[in-house]
Amino acid sequence: PVTGEMACGEYGSGKMSSPRQIFSEITNFFKDKNIIKKKKITALVTTGPTREYIDPVRYISNESSGKQGYEIAIALARAGVKTTLVAGASNFNPLHDLEIINVTSANVMFEKVKQLLPVDIAVCAAAVSDYKVNQTSITKIKKTGDNIFLELSENPDILKRIGKRNSLRPKLVIGFAAETENLQKNAEAKLLSKGCDWILANDVSNGKVFGEDENNIMFISKNKSGTWNKMTKENVAKKLSSNISDYFSV
Ligand code: C5P
Repeated sequence: PVTGEMACGEYGSGKMSSPRQIFSEITNFFKDKNIIKKKKITALVTTGPTREYIDPVRYISNESSGKQGYEIAIALARAGVKTTLVAGASNFNPLHDLEIINVTSANVMFEKVKQLLPVDIAVCAAAVSDYKVNQTSITKIKKTGDNIFLELSENPDILKRIGKRNSLRPKLVIGFAAETENLQKNAEAKLLSKGCDWILANDVSNGKVFGEDENNIMFISKNKSGTWNKMTKENVAKKLSSNISDYFSV
């Protein structure tokens, strides 16, 4: 709908677009899709939480639902990009045109990502555990009545390892930055430190975003930044996919 005078007599957002506008939107959609399809563009998307096992039944993980990355993978596949989703602990339905590889730990996610190279686009939306347990117990750890200690070591930063590659670096590397303060400043620093082309930053103070259907995005690239209106994760995915199509259509 567009804004204007509506049949009910009110003025506002809800007026039907003109048939001419609708027709032009549809033809542009298919034109873009054909351009993308002809260019045989490929993408990998990471999503979901990783799990770092402590013993066979316990692990370190986080609250990520993986929804945002799943929606991005669907939007790219629908735009004609050959897309593979590498998903940490989640239960997403495979769709026609979208391949899903399920993984658990960050290390395995990184291995799968490397196997998918070369690709044109990498979107890293996964909530990767920063640390892993050094020695996973092969049997269930029993209570001893005493304190126990877990030694943790750093996981590979998948986004950074892709963004800073000298060979087989995707043409477009996109990351996320969930921040609780100084959103723009921290996200701009992340853009540089991780070698990304674009960052989608969001404010996660007060536990916002994780598991929600809506997302409030600040888009940051090397030469421009801007805030997107609050919208559903599906619409964030469509907007990102349309920006990606524009990037590859020129
Ligand atoms: O450093 P931070 O976790 O805030 O960065 C978030 C971005 O980095 C996300 O795009 C996330 O998918 C990616 N990331 C990654 N591997 C890690 C940590 C973060 O790909 N080990």
